Amino acid sequence: MTARIIPITDSRGARPSRTVQAPAAADAGAGLLDRLQRPLLDLRISVTDRCNFRCVYCMPRETFDQDYPYVPHAELLSFEEITRLARIFVRRGTRKIRLTGGEPLLRRDLESLVHMLAGLRAELGAPLDLALTTNGSLLKRKAGALAEAGLNRVTVSLDALDDTIFRSMSDVDFPVAQVLEGIEAARAAGLGPVKVNMVVKRGLNDGQVLPMARYLRERGHVLRFIEYMDVGNSNGWRLDDVLTSDRILEQIDAEMPLEPVATDEAGTVAQRWRYRDGSGEIGTISSISRAFCGDCTRARLSTEGSLYLCLFGDQGHDLRGLLRAGATDPQMAAAIGQIWSERADRYSELRSAATAMPARRIEMSYIGG
Ligand code: SAM
Ligand code: SF4
Ligand code: SF4
Repeated sequence: MTARIIPITDSRGARPSRTVQAPAAADAGAGLLDRLQRPLLDLRISVTDRCNFRCVYCMPRETFDQDYPYVPHAELLSFEEITRLARIFVRRGTRKIRLTGGEPLLRRDLESLVHMLAGLRAELGAPLDLALTTNGSLLKRKAGALAEAGLNRVTVSLDALDDTIFRSMSDVDFPVAQVLEGIEAARAAGLGPVKVNMVVKRGLNDGQVLPMARYLRERGHVLRFIEYMDVGNSNGWRLDDVLTSDRILEQIDAEMPLEPVATDEAGTVAQRWRYRDGSGEIGTISSISRAFCGDCTRARLSTEGSLYLCLFGDQGHDLRGLLRAGATDPQMAAAIGQIWSERADRYSELRSAATAMPARRIEMSYIGG
């Protein structure tokens, strides 16, 4: 069986998805390893490529304007299709699903999808961690319903406490106070400990590292610093704009002494640090200065159902085409197994060797951050 090719316009940054052939269902054993012996443990699902923010490092306004070719509604994976694919992934060993985007809370009735995915725990008798990454703008309104539907955890992205600096990162007029209310609503709903992701762009929000650390420590939330990455084609990334985790840790340690936390959890990309006085924890995600491809157990399902094996991929595998062409679950499982078994991506480890860079890359809002 051959799935149709989805044409993806250049402006979204990708080559057309690879057509996926359904291999013999007999290939569909559980527990997948790629060519570098990495298991498939995490699935990130982009439920929309739209967003109400225009963060300069993700969806710069000059590119993501009213003429941008967002995925039309009919092309999105439906909740039923997402759940069917998720079931197949969980059967094949996936243990964490994160809903992301774009801004996932813009997808109408997202709590119904959470409810459907949460149902897989009992149906398959498998532990399944369900998480969401959001900019927090709609979280106050949605946290209760999401928790009730079976969501375990949220990560909220917030790059500054100061409204003016926040605006220079998000490029929208949205009050930080409302994001903070969203974080508290998530905690109150039982979606904690809430992790807060802060991308640090030198010269824009590096002065917010300490205020953010102090504020979130006082409230018991886990702040994670993400090195600014060269994802997509439009953010004009330069190495000079990156503030490395080491520099960030130095700043914090000077005021609030830190020590490393040992962790052996598979697929963890954040390095963990605890305040020596026992008042909490922070994390650093050093995709530029300390690549972690060797531990990368993640696949990403794009808004329209293409499977990407790396954040820096330029081509997905068209699972939606296969699904809509009538493939059975065992055929889908075998196809996913074959795709994963051929994976050898390790872009961040090769970043310094310019030869490894794909000329055009997929946008993060499309495959999910
Ligand atoms: N809209 C949601 C949000 O902002 O949390 C979910 C999608 S967003 C693409 C997921 C994560 O990717 C966010 O924490 C965001 O800060 C991060 N991100 C986006 N572009 C990035 C870049 N160029 N470098 C590092 N992190 C980035
Ligand atoms: Fe939107 Fe999240 Fe990207 Fe910011 S990081 S533009 S909130 S998708
Ligand atoms: Fe994973 Fe690709 Fe990032 Fe390496 S560069 S950690 S393989 S997503």
